[in-house]
Amino acid sequence: MYRKRHEIKDLARQRIERLLRFAEMVYPTEPELAHRYGKIAMAICKKAQIPYPDTLKAQVCRKCGSFLVPGETMRVRVKNRGKMKYIAVTCLRCGYVRRYPLKWKDVLPKPWHIFYGDRGD
Ligand SMILES: [Zn+2]
Repeated sequence: MYRKRHEIKDLARQRIERLLRFAEMVYPTEPELAHRYGKIAMAICKKAQIPYPDTLKAQVCRKCGSFLVPGETMRVRVKNRGKMKYIAVTCLRCGYVRRYPLKWKDVLPKPWHIFYGDRGD
């Protein structure tokens, strides 16, 4: 069946959201399955050629596709580099570190605002 490009992208986004919800649900009992869902979500994103949604960026390791759970499979630290502050997120499964610079205003960088909310105006 022929589908238009934007329909495929919409479908991809919906699938990714669903996979991440499932991953969250199964993680406590079946962490390996959650990691598999993470990988699949990333693969869908690539195939549909859509940018990674914020939820995916925050919940799945870009490098190995692991499902990221604070204190379990990821470590979050606020660090200082000179006057710059940034959030360092480490995937505990592959050791990949992602850094999100904090702006001068007290606003959380993407994708963290979806979990913790913007504290700025
Ligand atoms: Zn990783």
